[in-house]
Amino acid sequence: MRRVRQKNTAPEIRLRKALHAAGVRFRLHDNRLPGHPDIVLAGRCLAIFVHGCFWHRHEGCSRTTTPKSNRTYWEQKFAENIERDKRKTSQLVNNGWNVRIVWECEILDDATLARVVGEIVAAQAIPRNRCRVRDSRQSKVAKRNRDSISTS
Ligand code: ZN
Repeated sequence: MRRVRQKNTAPEIRLRKALHAAGVRFRLHDNRLPGHPDIVLAGRCLAIFVHGCFWHRHEGCSRTTTPKSNRTYWEQKFAENIERDKRKTSQLVNNGWNVRIVWECEILDDATLARVVGEIVAAQAIPRNRCRVRDSRQSKVAKRNRDSISTS
């Protein structure tokens, strides 16, 4: 099974609207950064990923189920997703970025969404640090091979 990483999912759009309403300005899907973060506050070196709880295995979340059939297959896919997420995060951190994962279930709940937005607004007050934007396009072929099972 091959999946293309989903962009502009409903939770992602909901978060973007809430951030925008709170006065946060950002860029979308910066493909110069590892993992193409969904929302980027470049001035604050903050990269935000909106993760689906099922695909990215939100710990302790009721959405993080495992299909009963083909269990080995699913467990391997999930392990690969977790591994890829870790790799992208460490690449960003090594380039001076702060990484914030926002889970789909946090966005769908009004109270939790308000808290997440509050945290991101507060993060805008972090003194500007140095983060690099490295062009990841050279490694596109290798990346395509690695990312064959992605998710939202
Ligand atoms: Zn969740």
